Amino acid sequence: MSKQENIDSSFRPIVGIDLGTTNSSVAFIQSGKPHIIPGPKGEKLTPSVVLIDPNEKVVVGEDAQAALIAMPERSIAAVKRQMGEQTSIKLGASFYSPEEISGMILEKLRGYVDKQLGEGEKEAVITVPAYFTDEQRRATKKAGELAGFAVERIINEPTAAALAFGFQHLDEDRHLLVYDLGGGTFDVSIVEMMDGILEVKASTGNNRLGGEDFDWLLVDWFAEKMIEQFAIDPRTDVRAKAVLKEEAEKVKKQLSEQDVVEVALPVVMMKEGKPLGLYTEVTKDQFVALIEPLLQETMDKISQILADTKLHVEEIDDILLVGGSSRIPRIHELIQDYFHKQPRSDVNPDEAVALGAAVQAGLKSGSLAKSGLIVTDVAPFSMGVAVVKETWGTKFRPGAFKAIIPRNTTIPVTRTETFGTVAPNQTEVMIEVYQGENEWVKDNHFLNEFLLKGIPPGPAGNEAVEVTFRYNLNGILEVTAKSVSTGESMTVTIQDSLDRSSEEAFQTSLEKVEASHSDRDEGDEEQIDLFDFLEEGDFDTEDEAEEDYGDLIEEATSLKERCEQALVNTTSKTEQKQLREVLSRIDDAIKAEDDAALDKAIEQAMDVLIDLDF
Ligand code: ADP
Ligand code: MG
Repeated sequence: MSKQENIDSSFRPIVGIDLGTTNSSVAFIQSGKPHIIPGPKGEKLTPSVVLIDPNEKVVVGEDAQAALIAMPERSIAAVKRQMGEQTSIKLGASFYSPEEISGMILEKLRGYVDKQLGEGEKEAVITVPAYFTDEQRRATKKAGELAGFAVERIINEPTAAALAFGFQHLDEDRHLLVYDLGGGTFDVSIVEMMDGILEVKASTGNNRLGGEDFDWLLVDWFAEKMIEQFAIDPRTDVRAKAVLKEEAEKVKKQLSEQDVVEVALPVVMMKEGKPLGLYTEVTKDQFVALIEPLLQETMDKISQILADTKLHVEEIDDILLVGGSSRIPRIHELIQDYFHKQPRSDVNPDEAVALGAAVQAGLKSGSLAKSGLIVTDVAPFSMGVAVVKETWGTKFRPGAFKAIIPRNTTIPVTRTETFGTVAPNQTEVMIEVYQGENEWVKDNHFLNEFLLKGIPPGPAGNEAVEVTFRYNLNGILEVTAKSVSTGESMTVTIQDSLDRSSEEAFQTSLEKVEASHSDRDEGDEEQIDLFDFLEEGDFDTEDEAEEDYGDLIEEATSLKERCEQALVNTTSKTEQKQLREVLSRIDDAIKAEDDAALDKAIEQAMDVLIDLDF
């Protein structure tokens, strides 16, 4: 090993960071290999817990963890679950955003890095769950920047885990399935390794499923016991809740090793000066029964990803289990039953992500360039826009989802689609950007919207608008809309919606235009790919509202007829039940003259009819 290779990226060191829901960890490349940079006590994982102590000083890690019970109103765990949300979290005397709190965790890790590599500027590759949304990724990037890192790249956690593995198995050609179940999120990815190229084929997951949920299920179970005994719900008391949560996690972990665990908590809370305790035992089977539906959900995602990649179970050569929750023995059983093979045991489930992030950092800085390792990733969800869709022959409904970048497209990617105007003399178009896999945008995740103005007036369908989606290596999206005839375009990084100052500047051109059910029957063009738009001033008046309601009733009546027809045509009891249910919803809403409910009932009726293929 030459000296040069030993001193990796000597000017601006670059590290890899796993910013976890439960634990965080940082690694770097030394002597051509990834290593965890430990904390002062040699700890490789730092609990992602923050305390603002009574002197308003920030405490991060193990010491803060101890305060979760003692000072629940001053401490916070699992802030990653709130990343990307516009919330303020009160800790002590002040309010903090989720990215600020995450920034404090990263700042703590930065301390370890500075100690190991010296003070000065540092670059970082930070990992996020593959299934993290755009806002969540940006919030993570911001947290890194708040901690003083130059955030070079945001990469997906399962991809990082695959890199840590792939780096040790450069010459092997195989299909790898990464199952990453941590404290707050679940991801599954399929990676093809060939000649040192790691190609993520597909990725899916649930960014709200993890060990935390298992803990809370156990907390509920404990609470039920206490309600039975004392007729009091301990979950209504912050401290009691924290006590039960801590116990739940402890019990859960013990149940990974043993079949039954005793719970003996003399004081969960006080009532009229008397302590109320909890004495019980939990068996492994009882615990598994509680979490089984969630585990089943993870297995369903595996089936989905195999279907997406068109791979058979036997084509998966290795299964990597990553994340602390993957230690649960029931998960090993489920995996074993599904794949008829044992998962790999040569990867440390706690360290793989940080080590892989360091490998990515090394590839980026050039210190691992000689390894020849290359990695490509995918977009784990589809991204697209709201369009008007033709339904039932003549009726146009706004709010349909048209994907521009389908899920599992290799990134970075740029895609353009052209759409037509829907009304005569339409001069504006609202570009509403969503991600998700559902047919209607209401079921997908809203990312942003902007108004493209200045379209020359003309007949409906005459004017074309080009919409371009650019999805970069960090998983961050940029959208451009261009009026083809004028060449005028607008570009929006979805980021703008989170960034307060630029949001203000942008606010003038952002105008939310409600989807409406106004008259869209004119014109008989094939209008599948059209924008959901309304001209300014084309709504909001009482007359219009009445007209809308009339339309709604008309639509409801015609849908009722279809549902009744379907009811006659089907022999399936479940289908009949579904149809009767939507029919009675429509009737109820009409009787109550509740147009919001009617609107909802109509959508449900359409969903059911589409589902049942009528
Ligand atoms: P994250 O990536 O979300 O920070 P980790 O990968 O560190 O999460 O996993 C933390 C989760 O794993 C926590 O919910 C923790 O309770 C759980 N966990 C850790 N060890 C075990 C174990 N032996 N059995 C069951 N769950 C465990
Ligand atoms: Mg993790």
